[in-house]
Amino acid sequence: MSGAILILSGPSGAGKSTIIKEASTRIGEFYFSISSTSRAPREGEKEGREYHFVTKEVFERGIEAGEFLEYAMVHGNYYGTSLTPVHTALKAGKLVIFDIDVQGFHLAKERMGDLITSAFILPPSLGELDRRLTDRLTDSPEVISQRLKNAKREILEIGAYDFVIVNDEIGEAVEKFVSVANAARLKLGDSEGEEFVNAWLSS
Ligand code: ADP
Ligand code: 5GP
Repeated sequence: MSGAILILSGPSGAGKSTIIKEASTRIGEFYFSISSTSRAPREGEKEGREYHFVTKEVFERGIEAGEFLEYAMVHGNYYGTSLTPVHTALKAGKLVIFDIDVQGFHLAKERMGDLITSAFILPPSLGELDRRLTDRLTDSPEVISQRLKNAKREILEIGAYDFVIVNDEIGEAVEKFVSVANAARLKLGDSEGEEFVNAWLSS
């Protein structure tokens, strides 16, 4: 059995990390893909937990060596998903969850589209996004303003996603996320369909 990929995108501050954390005991065995980034760690972030924090130079060497399934420049920093751990988790039949931006989603779809289910997560309004980013106390006003600008651009791509989750009341958003994670596991990849038919007909 091979695994499946669930891609989550949405503005920084939409609540993606909060939702995954709250749902983590209810979606079966999964592997959260830890991205590499050239941005500096925020207070409280730990190497290897939220991200692998690397310099711009190390990231660029990774690009040259073909280490990334996808990568993108977001808010002036590199972010990317390493191929090897994703392959390992997929081979082990796990649900692999990515928290990546819209550019990365399109690139990943080109390479592994048949395994991917996608959901766009967003807060109920731009004003609420601003409030959450401000209350999170992790970013300067300049960084917040850049993230809001980016959010207005990213939301235009919402139609490319399979599901939309509006994160208004957290409990409801978590319920929706659990349904989407279950749907991702049930999605039949191209090659899996053929294997299933052959096994079914010969049993
Ligand atoms: P992301 O991972 O998408 O960048 P976070 O999970 O860090 O977003 O959430 C951004 C901020 O909003 C955090 O301070 C979090 O506690 C808060 N938050 C998340 N979901 C909700 C919600 N439904 N209502 C109010 N605040 C929320
Ligand atoms: P943050 O700096 O708030 O942690 O993340 C900023 C943005 O980068 C978010 O939209 C997040 O989804 C995106 N991001 C995080 N990891 C990756 C990755 O590996 N690839 C891509 N393309 N985007 C990522």
